[in-house]
Amino acid sequence: MKCYLCGKTFFERRYIQTLFKVKVVFRCKSCEKKYPAYVTEQAIPKNSGLIYITSLFKEENNFNLLAYNQEIKKWFLKTINSMNKDDTIIWVDEVSDVLIPYLDLIDNDIYLLSKTLKYFS
Ligand SMILES: [Zn+2]
Repeated sequence: MKCYLCGKTFFERRYIQTLFKVKVVFRCKSCEKKYPAYVTEQAIPKNSGLIYITSLFKEENNFNLLAYNQEIKKWFLKTINSMNKDDTIIWVDEVSDVLIPYLDLIDNDIYLLSKTLKYFS
């Protein structure tokens, strides 16, 4: 496989127990240690419900998000299992101050995945 962060080719070690299991990974072991995701969760109250914001990184970067497919998959599975059927899922690169008032117009809870962390006070 080719690492989506450094571009190097790498191989996943396989054993007889994992020989026929497919694990899709786009980040080599070196980049996994060097550039870990810093998953942060915040809950912000709004008119009707809460906005649950999950961020993948502390700082702005140009990482290919396909390299973090495991973290994103984990978030989606956790969110889908915990949300109600009328809640909303939104995925944006950055949570801006312009976006928040529009989110306030949506009924029910909102689960928002963003690339970079933004603190709200
Ligand atoms: Zn790499």
